[in-house]
Amino acid sequence: MPLKLFDTKERTIKPFVPQDPKSVKMYTCGPTVYDYAHIGNFRTFVAEDLLRRTLKHLGYGVFQVMNLTDVDDKTIKGALQENTTLAAFTQRYTDAFFDDLKTLSIDPAEAYPKATDYIPQMVEMIRTLLEKKLAYVSNDGSVYFKLDTFPCYGCLSHLNLEELQLNASERTRMDDYGKEHISDFVLWKRHERDRDGDISWPSPWGEGRPGWHIECSVMAKGLLGNTIDIHAGGVDLIFPHHENEIAQSESANGVLFSKYWFHVEHLLVDHKKMSKSLGNFYTLRTLIEKGFSGKAIRYLLLSVHYRSQLNFTKGSLEASNQALARINDFHQRLLRSQNEATGSESSGDICSKAKIHFDEALQEDLNISEALAALFELIREGNSLLDKKTISPQGVKEILDTLLTFDTVLALLPTAQNSVPEEVLKLHQARQDARGKKDFAQSDALRQKISELGFIVEDGPKGSYVKPKSTH
Ligand code: AMP
Ligand code: ZN
Repeated sequence: MPLKLFDTKERTIKPFVPQDPKSVKMYTCGPTVYDYAHIGNFRTFVAEDLLRRTLKHLGYGVFQVMNLTDVDDKTIKGALQENTTLAAFTQRYTDAFFDDLKTLSIDPAEAYPKATDYIPQMVEMIRTLLEKKLAYVSNDGSVYFKLDTFPCYGCLSHLNLEELQLNASERTRMDDYGKEHISDFVLWKRHERDRDGDISWPSPWGEGRPGWHIECSVMAKGLLGNTIDIHAGGVDLIFPHHENEIAQSESANGVLFSKYWFHVEHLLVDHKKMSKSLGNFYTLRTLIEKGFSGKAIRYLLLSVHYRSQLNFTKGSLEASNQALARINDFHQRLLRSQNEATGSESSGDICSKAKIHFDEALQEDLNISEALAALFELIREGNSLLDKKTISPQGVKEILDTLLTFDTVLALLPTAQNSVPEEVLKLHQARQDARGKKDFAQSDALRQKISELGFIVEDGPKGSYVKPKSTH
């Protein structure tokens, strides 16, 4: 069964057919690096990670680009307030963002372009739009896209131009609208010293800086070409950001911009969108400081279908901890049983059944509830087989391999550096002590015991450490 994905533009679940059957070009709108990202932002990034991992699990190569918005009103304001350069200001939050991605086990994208590295290409695309008479230079020296030249404006959000203009006038985001026509959006903002300090770039229309929307159109083109397979982001980006990206890219390049539009619903707090402006947000760091693990937060963000809203509560995070503990306990039990099992029975059909269930669930527009149901079914049936003590080591290995395969998509099991259980660490310490006393018989016996628990001791030039035998 091929993968099917919901496409915002066609408002339907469609079979997924990338341009190249072997490899997927995916563009995901990244963070604005002016502050620490909150877990609402990370709900979107985790859902995109699930999509990326599912594509890989189904055999596709993936080339994912996630931009870093390092020039806009907010980053400039932040740099000026701190009296530092834009680069120094945004680097702090860029570094923090990459740390947070690791904490949440989000696989790195193939490229993380910074908007400030693509300004000449942005000038180039704006020049093309001006040459095609689809944009104009306003009296104040800014450049605007002429919205009424693009007939399919609104085709993504399914709003008509009148409604869009109404929405637009309600919005205050300075990057979106200029002075002349409320519906024309800015491509190049003329430099204003009061607002921008010394931050500006040269262009044929004078000093200034790019608008927010042109950044994504240009970085997508630069790294993925004129037509991409999947464009992703949170639902709040559908209008105006993605409508504007489509208008710019398709007008400049003359071809379809993206084959599929993947949008992630919001994380809510008390049934309102988690956002900086409402002040109802948690950063990942705050939750980690409160004692929650990155894996528990990942589980929570992952566990509700990406097209449904998810209301965040501490209770739901505690429930995620419990679900995670079941998965981890099962993993540990399999690691131990791999060496201890003495039976001769296979694992029967529990692995093949679970794999089919898991794959079919994901192929149906990333049905995560069903995919997790397949995992918990494997855990339930696996535990009852282990209870009977009739399973062979090979049978245990099959179940372990199935669990590890699921985990290439879910990424919920501990990663190599933190996956060593307390019991093994204690044995490792005892072995170190025995070696210190030159009791090599005892040291070897402890190494053997560690091995029986599924771990290997490595004695290297930087000291001795222990790691799981089967890291994935
Ligand atoms: P920003 O840094 O504001 O440009 O946002 C980065 C990403 O997070 C975008 O894809 C947003 O749509 C997404 N996002 C922002 N708030 C939320 C939320 N409460 N729930 C889910 N995604 C969000
Ligand atoms: Zn974007």
